[in-house]
Amino acid sequence: MSHEDVPVLIVGGSLVGLSTAVFLGRHGVPSLVLERHRGTAIHPRAALVNQRTMETYRAVGLEERIEDAAAREFVQNGAIVSVDSLGGKELDWYFRFINEGVEDLSPSRRVFITQIGLEPVLLEAAGAVGARIEYSSEAVSVEQDAEGVTAVVRPRDGGPERTVRARYLVAADGAHSPIRERLGIRRLGHGSFSDSITIYFRADVRRLMGDRNLSVIYVFGPRLQGFFRFSIDLQAGFLVVNSTVDDDGNRSVRIGEDMTAPTCIAYVREALGDPEIEVEIENVQRWSASAEYAERLRDGRVFLAGDSAHVMPPTGGFGGNNGVQDAYDLAWKLAYVLDGRADESLLDTYDAERQPVGAFTTEQAYTRYVLRLDPSLGKDDLMPIVPEAPVELGYRHRSDAVLTDADDDETWEDPAAPSCRPGFRAPHVPVTVGGAEQSTLDLFGRSFVLLAGPDGGDWCTAAGSAASSFGVDLRAYRIGVDVIAPEGGLEASLGTGAAGAVLVRPDGFVSWRSSVPGRAPEQELSRALGAALGRGAAVAAR
Ligand SMILES: Cc1cc2nc3c(=O)[nH]c(=O)nc-3n(C[C@H](O)[C@H](O)[C@H](O)COP(=O)(O)OP(=O)(O)OC[C@H]3O[C@@H](n4cnc5c(N)ncnc54)[C@H](O)[C@@H]3O)c2cc1C
Repeated sequence: MSHEDVPVLIVGGSLVGLSTAVFLGRHGVPSLVLERHRGTAIHPRAALVNQRTMETYRAVGLEERIEDAAAREFVQNGAIVSVDSLGGKELDWYFRFINEGVEDLSPSRRVFITQIGLEPVLLEAAGAVGARIEYSSEAVSVEQDAEGVTAVVRPRDGGPERTVRARYLVAADGAHSPIRERLGIRRLGHGSFSDSITIYFRADVRRLMGDRNLSVIYVFGPRLQGFFRFSIDLQAGFLVVNSTVDDDGNRSVRIGEDMTAPTCIAYVREALGDPEIEVEIENVQRWSASAEYAERLRDGRVFLAGDSAHVMPPTGGFGGNNGVQDAYDLAWKLAYVLDGRADESLLDTYDAERQPVGAFTTEQAYTRYVLRLDPSLGKDDLMPIVPEAPVELGYRHRSDAVLTDADDDETWEDPAAPSCRPGFRAPHVPVTVGGAEQSTLDLFGRSFVLLAGPDGGDWCTAAGSAASSFGVDLRAYRIGVDVIAPEGGLEASLGTGAAGAVLVRPDGFVSWRSSVPGRAPEQELSRALGAALGRGAAVAAR
């Protein structure tokens, strides 16, 4: 059996696996991605790419390419509405346009692009930064020991098996994750609550749509509940059916039991509100609407990311986004541990930070599902709705690598009033750096960044020696000198005051902050940097 060594093996080459490869590559870590399918996605699935996900793609230089690809698929910035049928009554407008009210929160916009459109962009980008993607290849077994992980790889089209040895493995292998199952990692949550179907069809819906620009259309008809999305030319689309009601008023969530063409045509006509319209069924996919999250995301050298870590109903469009954000958290940590800049223990913070965010987001998607699509599931144990913007941009990462105040246990905040406390995403503020207008977010991405108040020169001086004692890159900026906010007051937005400072990790999350001048800035920064690198204990022992 032939053998190959790689630093990171990624099992699953869909949205999250490919994103992981891109993020790792941008940190200089090559990876091998194994994907059982023959190529990138052939079904649209995820389409709403939220602002935080677009920020991660912006950081790796992909934002424009994704926006261009998105514009080929959809008229952007459409509405999210509910109707009793497309041609019938409008019931509610959740968003008049999907970026309504969030334009100032980020330099990035929410974008509509299917996995069919997005994955080729990621594939090309992953290849360009040193990842190798192997389609029609399946990881048939995974074993780990103290030094690494060994996977047996089987080509789907025959040919000999081989082994791949990696220091770490990312299981981006989807909701049914064979790797998670083999590791015996339990899932918590609400289980599966609908045997749903997605019907891909062709039909000319231009007359029914009129001049509306609707990105997602929830259908709450008397006989059918689900949602539509349509192609840019309004000649095709898909309908998800989550539940139906028969003539006697009996509700069913077992939709997958009858996927015949006549039934599917009837569903599409019912949801369109036109019993005569010509409909051609292209494909029907059965899937389980469920809300579950893994109880832990790390087992030794194996990390769960994406749907293997949490699966949620599409209500809210959070699932794939959350997976990409898992990858963004994990990639820099793996890169820093692999070349010795960070301690192995930093990898524990992936679970500590991302598992609760996955659970929170899953609950938010579940609440939306119950309230919008199936109140019969019961409203008693629902987490109250948190608006979209905090779910997307306002969640908090809490771990030993983040130095929060002992009594500060908030888990999310409104990104419209960002606090810049440790654990939260550093906020977007328009700034000028070296004469160029940009976002504060454009300062982050690869290295640690220190932003100090206008009188915080001592912090900047200390940054160099603190960073070199850990062998990491720490770029220091003084507000008003290196970073100018056109309207001033950046120090108020970041909470540094005139003489404090904030330390931002390569993933754009704040890991430490002081709002006062440092008494011993080098020591204080070393403690913060040490914690952020999983070397807190070593610093304490100095
Ligand atoms: C109808 C619908 C609409 C949705 N809309 C949205 C939305 O608007 N926004 C959003 O964020 N999310 C949305 N989602 C959710 C989103 O599609 C998923 O969260 C996302 O696809 C998860 O990506 P993933 O890479 O983690 O898993 P998957 O896409 O499931 O990919 C896992 C991959 O691993 C491969 N694999 C598994 N085992 C192996 C193995 N042993 N060896 C090799 N390969 C293996 C599989 O072939 C598969 O390609 C939607 C989902 C549905 C069903």
